[in-house]
Amino acid sequence: MWLFWLIVIVAVVLYLLRKSNTSSGSSTASSSNLKIAVSSHSEMGDLETKVGFLPTSDGGFQIGPNLPIPLTLYGLDQADAAKLVAALEQGREYEIGEWFNHLVAQKNVQCKELVDWLAYAKPTIKRLVDLKRLASSEWEAATALDKEDLLAEFQNAAVEELALRPGFIETARTILFEEPNDLTVDDVLLARFKDAPDTYKSLLYAISAGPRVQVAPAAEYRRKTYEELTEKGFMRRGQEIPLEDILAGMTMKRMQEIAGSDAPKKFTRKAHAVEFLMTLPDTRQRLEKTISFRELFQLKPIEGIDLEELAKAHAYSSEVSRLILRTLRAGLESQRLKESSKDWEVDGWELNSEECCPDCRKLHGKTWKRLPQKLPPFHIGCDASIEMQ
Ligand SMILES: [Zn+2]
Repeated sequence: MWLFWLIVIVAVVLYLLRKSNTSSGSSTASSSNLKIAVSSHSEMGDLETKVGFLPTSDGGFQIGPNLPIPLTLYGLDQADAAKLVAALEQGREYEIGEWFNHLVAQKNVQCKELVDWLAYAKPTIKRLVDLKRLASSEWEAATALDKEDLLAEFQNAAVEELALRPGFIETARTILFEEPNDLTVDDVLLARFKDAPDTYKSLLYAISAGPRVQVAPAAEYRRKTYEELTEKGFMRRGQEIPLEDILAGMTMKRMQEIAGSDAPKKFTRKAHAVEFLMTLPDTRQRLEKTISFRELFQLKPIEGIDLEELAKAHAYSSEVSRLILRTLRAGLESQRLKESSKDWEVDGWELNSEECCPDCRKLHGKTWKRLPQKLPPFHIGCDASIEMQ
């Protein structure tokens, strides 16, 4: 048992070391310190678990060949694969999150295991939705808009029922239904900013909020980025923003207050409220009394780029990159457990899969005397884990 406590102490020390380094913002210091700590406890084994990678015959890379589920990635090069693997081994996947997200977007990185899952999930979802439509008493008589609403309801229920899916349901939804029509939509933008990665990053950040008017008070974290983008000509600010767009971002209640006693009646639709306020000669002056124009920012249209579609593509690739990192991270945890469990005296092992998909939930609470051969993650995005008893 003393070995177990030694491991716990080492883990806590490592965690504190990493934490203090993260807060000082130096990732190089973090990795070198970590290496020292790891090598001085090399006999522990559990801290040196390797992820590794292998090139595949069709131009991809298999990340973590010894992990419970290795992931096969296409579109990245050997240096990218090495960087990803090193970060995972050093527990820095949070720090490389942004880099990896960018890589997935820029190189349209494909994950074979995700593609395989989609090949199972998409037709299954379609079948489940069809069944729900047939069983629905409302469907036949529903209007086109109500059908849209019903369909969304059926789709959401179908994802919940899907036997095998990423544990985090929002991730499954995004991957299944939010796939952009054109995954290469951001390539034009990336090509244009390949020499200015910081501007690209800021721009992507602003784009993820969409073309709506954004309110960014001076103390807000987005403010500096927005000011820089305005300076570079990608955003407009305050008085430059069309009045109509500012009004469109307001609530009806607010517009009612601005219209005051001039409003013919209570507004019931937003479009009417905007339309009415645009007819008043002094709407701008009225607005100036209630809002600070300096706080308002709006992305300018970018020639040849569909900003809505781009925001969608960005949200999708972020989800994909997070899913890949989470799955690899979970595999590494299991592998570490496997490699170090030899030294531990434990009563047994228990599977915790309460939060995962129906297939995994069936196994929740299963126990073993010895660590089983097959360890989680059992599939891409699996949230199951093995715990010591
Ligand atoms: Zn599962």
